[in-house]
Parts: sequence; structure tokens; C-alpha cells
Amino acid sequence: MVISIASGKGGTGKTTVACGLASVINESVYIDCDVEEPNGHLLLKPGILKEEPSYKLIPKINYESCDFCNKCAEVCEFNALLNLKSEIYLIDELCHSCGACTYFCPQKAITEANKENGKIRIGETSNNILFYDAYLKVGEASAAPLIKKVKNAYKGNKTVIIDSPPGTSCSMLESVKDSDFCVLVTESTPFGFNDLKLAINVLRQIKIPYGIVINKYDENYYLLDEYIQKNKLNLLLKIPFRMDIAESYSKGELLTETIKDYRIMMLELLEKIKTEIVEKEYV
Ligand code: SF4
Ligand code: SF4
Repeated sequence: MVISIASGKGGTGKTTVACGLASVINESVYIDCDVEEPNGHLLLKPGILKEEPSYKLIPKINYESCDFCNKCAEVCEFNALLNLKSEIYLIDELCHSCGACTYFCPQKAITEANKENGKIRIGETSNNILFYDAYLKVGEASAAPLIKKVKNAYKGNKTVIIDSPPGTSCSMLESVKDSDFCVLVTESTPFGFNDLKLAINVLRQIKIPYGIVINKYDENYYLLDEYIQKNKLNLLLKIPFRMDIAESYSKGELLTETIKDYRIMMLELLEKIKTEIVEKEYV
């Protein structure tokens, strides 16, 4: 079972929910895909067992075969290739390792070479959560290849919690695709509401079932509740805005260990997600 946790907007409490869920599952795997700013380790405090470099594939041109037809630059959606007529110049930080240039080169003049794009860490917490995160190398514009690597680093059949980067860009897409279910964490504010709608749109397009958690819930902001009811969206949980939760979070504590009813909320959330996944399997 793979459960991803995403949010259209940063700062909604997505990592708190991801770590909380991971901590109430027996022998779970937590993978932090927010490779530009991973912070799950601050809450889970894993012992790091291994750190290894990650590589992405970038195109390498064989100038004995290349006739500068420009096809590779045309198919590159990320503008990573420039045809200078005497050289095909690669801006390797922009390369997403999609392989399109290699595939479409009429002269078969492109091979692929490894380039280091970041580091992956593997660890374990004191309560048996297998932990993975990754750091994107400074200057790398494309997070997606590293996200793919850290996601694929775990091979096994334990329940996996994917902590997705905020936003609705290709980094979020790469993180949540292949999930059995996605939890969208939002908050009771106009920004949270707006970005939730964008994130829902993305999940509908890639056909990933989802449910909503409203964090720092404020009943005075009724537009979000109205929208959820009117569109019959799957509201999984409302986490109230409370001082004890805010204080524990600001100390970098794992809320399921410090606040008893937060743990109960996470257990209830897990049960609802399991029900959703099982129902989906038998539809
Ligand atoms: S597509 Fe192949 S042959 Fe054409 S410019 Fe690119 S590398 Fe050269
Ligand atoms: S692998 Fe994809 S992203 Fe990289 S240069 Fe080729 S076409 Fe562009």
C-alpha cells in the first residue's frame, strides 16, 4: 500500500500528517520526496545508516554521427539542448532525464551518461520506521529525477508513506503517481482553499483517489466547508487549531508521541484510508 501526502500550498502541515501517519503504522516506510527542502527527519529523528550519491542520466552526443538536424533540441520540452551548429550544448541542470532526445535522434548519435544530482539517505527510527530522504544538489533545477530515485530506493511490500513536495508542479506529480491513495492536506484560509482546488485538479487528471485533511481547522472560514459539501468531496479529517498542537510542533516533536488525541486522529485517518483503498480495489 502506497499512501502519498500532498498539498497545493506549503506550510499546511503536510509533513506533520505524513510523519504522524507513518508513526501509527506497524513497520512503515517513510519517504521524503521534498528533495529541495526535506524536513521529515526533524520530526522522525532517524538514525542515518547510509548516505549515497544519486545520479541522473544526461545525453552525450557523438559528433561523428551527429549532423546537427536539431531534432533533439526540438523534442526537449525543458529547453535543455541548444544547437550551436558546431556543438549541441546541454544545460544539464535543466535536463529531466526523460530520454526523448536519445529516442528521437535520427542518427542514433546520443548515448546517456551519469551525472550526480544529489544524495540519498537511508535510516531507521527508534520505533521501526524505515526512513528515506534526499537532497538535491545546489544549482540543479530539476527535482523529478532525484524524486524518482528516492521513491525507487525502497523495494519491499511494507506500507509506504510518500511525503510529496508542496505545489502542483512535476515534482508533486512524480511523487504522487503510482500511489494507491493521496491525502491532500489543506488549511482554512483563502490560499489553502485556492491551492487545494489546483491539487484536486491534478489528481483527477492522473486518476489517483484522494481525500482531504483540513489542518488548523477554523470553523469561521466556511467557504472551504461549503465547497467540500457542494462537490461531495471526501473529507477525511479536521485537525483543530490548538495551542498544544502548535507548541509541540514548534519544538520539533512528533505529535503522535506527545499528544494522545492527535495519535487517535492519525489512527482514525489510517482506517479511513484503508477503507477507501479496499473499496476501490473491489469497484
Ligand atoms: S537529433 Fe541527433 S543528429 Fe540531430 S542534432 Fe541532435 S544529436 Fe545531432
Ligand atoms: S533527456 Fe529529455 S530533458 Fe534531457 S536533454 Fe534529452 S530531451 Fe531534454
